[in-house]
Amino acid sequence: MIIVMKKGADKEQLAEVKKQIRELGYKPHVIHGETRNVIGAVGDERGKSVLQAMESLPGVESVVPILKPYKLASREVKPEPSTVDLGGGVTVGGGQLVVMAGPCSVESEAQILETAHAVKAAGATVLRGGAFKPRTSPYSFQGMEEDGLKLLALAREATGLPIVTEVVNPRDVDLVARYADIMQVGARNIQNFALLKMLGQLDKPILLKRGMASTIQEFLMSAEYILAEGNRRVLLCERGIRTFETATRNTLDISAVPVLKEQTHLPIIIDPSHATGHASLVPSMCYAGVAAGCDGLIVEVHPCPEKAASDGPQSLRPAEFAAMMAKLREFAKVAGKEL
Ligand code: PEP
Ligand code: MN
Repeated sequence: MIIVMKKGADKEQLAEVKKQIRELGYKPHVIHGETRNVIGAVGDERGKSVLQAMESLPGVESVVPILKPYKLASREVKPEPSTVDLGGGVTVGGGQLVVMAGPCSVESEAQILETAHAVKAAGATVLRGGAFKPRTSPYSFQGMEEDGLKLLALAREATGLPIVTEVVNPRDVDLVARYADIMQVGARNIQNFALLKMLGQLDKPILLKRGMASTIQEFLMSAEYILAEGNRRVLLCERGIRTFETATRNTLDISAVPVLKEQTHLPIIIDPSHATGHASLVPSMCYAGVAAGCDGLIVEVHPCPEKAASDGPQSLRPAEFAAMMAKLREFAKVAGKEL
């Protein structure tokens, strides 16, 4: 249920409503609006009608049900878009188009530093790099683990770019959180609810990737797991879904952007690298993402893609990335975003 406070309701009235929500066994989530506050009361759906009685409390304007199964992620609870501070002066969800770039995997100090400097020079404002890799084959490179995280921290120190990196296992959440500015949940882990709940308790932004077979509703329900634990800093990432098409690694669901924009206030990132699987297709899908209204992009870049330990065929060379960024600036302008 959503408890809508009257314009000018005071702090004491808000505190009383929150107290009563808790007494009824629900969790209050306050959303501060420009003219009025609303409180999402989230919990067991079965007994929610008891909340209706709160309409008679001082300062309360109305109590209305949230129709969507995802509550805190929905536009019903929060009509205005959310902005998320990523650190290093970067904010996503507002006027800035945020480009995250870097290799699929961290491989060596030279590789990550060279890439970090190159993507920064081209205009990226977040560095990506995997230290724990979820690979289809157990015989493929699994990532440098903590040594990789240390190299990412080194690259952050050298460039000032905040870093986004994946956590694969709930056991590694604390370790990855010691180094990462943004925690990535990979497509294969979108319904690892134990992991999502742990990330909901962190004070760090989470980049949640859509699963290759997740519907948009399932995607938002996974985001809800993180939000329900109290972490509001969730970014949604469309990275392609599996279809019958084999010309591309996945099929970029570009219409997910406007659909999500209607359903949720959370910022939306497009990953054209995993969506297409081919470097030559990445720039056009970056432009399409921006045209569709995304808030940011995450792009794989490698100084020498033919030698990459993972995802070389879809990685742009630094010069290709820089050329893409130059053109992207024009698209961003038309979309009303700054790059
Ligand atoms: C990645 O970002 O390198 C990755 C493994 O992505 P996804 O989880 O989308 O496959
Ligand atoms: Mn990859």
